[in-house]
Amino acid sequence: DTIGANLAATVARFPDREALVDVPSGRRWTYREFDADVRRVALGLLALGVDRGERVGIWAPNVPEWLLVQYATARIGAILVNINPAYRGHELSYVLQQAGVRTLISTETFKTSDYRAIVDQIRPECPALREVVYLGTADWSELLDGGSTVDEALLPDREATLTFDDPINIQYTSGTTGFPKGATLSHHNILNNGFFVAEGQGITEADRICVPVPFYHCFGMVMGNLAATSHGACVVIPGPAFDPAATLRAVAAERCTALYGVPTMFIAELAEPSLPEHDLSSLRTGVMAGSPCPVEVMKRVIGELGMAEVTICYGMTETSPVSCQTRGDDDLERRVSTVGAVHPHVEVKVVDPATGAPVPRGEAGELCTRGYSVMLGYWNLPDMTAESIDAGRWMHTGDLAVMDPAGYLSIVGRIKDMVIRGGENIYPREIEEFLYTHPDIVDAQVIGVPDAKYGEELVAWVKLREGAAEFGVEQLRAFCAGKLAHYKIPRYVRVVDAFPMTVTGKVRKVEMREISIAELG
Ligand code: ATP
Ligand code: MG
Repeated sequence: DTIGANLAATVARFPDREALVDVPSGRRWTYREFDADVRRVALGLLALGVDRGERVGIWAPNVPEWLLVQYATARIGAILVNINPAYRGHELSYVLQQAGVRTLISTETFKTSDYRAIVDQIRPECPALREVVYLGTADWSELLDGGSTVDEALLPDREATLTFDDPINIQYTSGTTGFPKGATLSHHNILNNGFFVAEGQGITEADRICVPVPFYHCFGMVMGNLAATSHGACVVIPGPAFDPAATLRAVAAERCTALYGVPTMFIAELAEPSLPEHDLSSLRTGVMAGSPCPVEVMKRVIGELGMAEVTICYGMTETSPVSCQTRGDDDLERRVSTVGAVHPHVEVKVVDPATGAPVPRGEAGELCTRGYSVMLGYWNLPDMTAESIDAGRWMHTGDLAVMDPAGYLSIVGRIKDMVIRGGENIYPREIEEFLYTHPDIVDAQVIGVPDAKYGEELVAWVKLREGAAEFGVEQLRAFCAGKLAHYKIPRYVRVVDAFPMTVTGKVRKVEMREISIAELG
């Protein structure tokens, strides 16, 4: 199916169920109302002359119009280009040019940023950009009203030309390891993935999913929005950007049954002083994903947030995104320490990165995935596409994984993050997991820096609990002694209040490495 056809089927089944709630503004849509507004936006875009395959950019935080634009562009076969709301002029200009965006939908201001001023500044560099529509202004009303000036038959006529293999979305990767790349995705790619992610959590029309993760990223728009609309569930937006207290308040007020987050969001919610004041008894499930999910954090999410059936998903933007998911009824140890087994209709294999040959179960190697979920390619980067997707159509993820005898996968790290110290391969993840067990450590990240003697040495960045005792190299050594092999004990410690992050909530180890290298001389 196309996304439009799938939405129509949901609207027909559940017209009066709630589809969308925006907590800050109090606005709500039933599926019938949501469908009507999507149609208005779709006709409005047709009135602007947006063609099939034409790129429509959206540069905005999590507001309900984001979803209207998402489904409207899918209905008219335009390619939605998700733009990170944290981008500034230089990055915005790059994406607009790289993707050839002709229509941009944005917001005038958000937090301290003046989006309009940034757009005005870079506009001369983007000759293809024809139209900019600011949400909540007269532009947006004009777009909505514009639809009434065109022949309504244009929409079904356009829909009749679409096929589910059409590209309809360019999603940029998080930029954790370098510059973000635009993954080109089809209806078939992301609609199916959203559907299966919902199935993996047992989502039905009775569920209400709280989505604090950014819509611009696949976690929000596919695992959140498409998972919900393919099952008649409701998307609850706790706010335009992540805030732990606001998220917990939204869950309680809207009786959410599912909560999403990257590990750092759950860590912040668990550390939120107002946590005990919120009634989270409606929570049943949810998804933790996006970066390594620490065992301790998973256990606390199950115990303290009451998310008994929470699942972990593993995936990447290039694979729509999810390839593996844990199950709410797996045994606890497996649920907290693996990323689950392969998703329906997806294949995985673990190979030796040097030879490409599969490694025996229990050994680490590069994870490769194949199936409906693999992107069409990187937008306008054929060489990079060819480097990532091989002739057998396997996507090489750049992640290191181990598959157990039952087929459950554990992610041990990224190839790029692996540290080689004195000839020993070290997976920082293992050391981070160990540091999390220290009562004063709230968050820990381990990186490698160049070292004349050993090739590389480990640096641990730690975030301490308020009121924690001093924590330096000596305390770290004492804590690790006898429990970690000597070569895995970090040589340096750096106590920080925060880590450099991507807006998707991932720690940018590249940046940590640069900072540590500069500091250590
Ligand atoms: P870039 O490709 O631009 O460097 P990125 O890889 O972080 O950034 P995404 O596509 O958002 O961009 O993230 C996919 C990556 O996130 C995966 O390749 C993997 O490294 C990591 N990841 C996702 N889910 C999990 C998980 N459950 N456990 C461990 N790692 C995960
Ligand atoms: Mg990546």
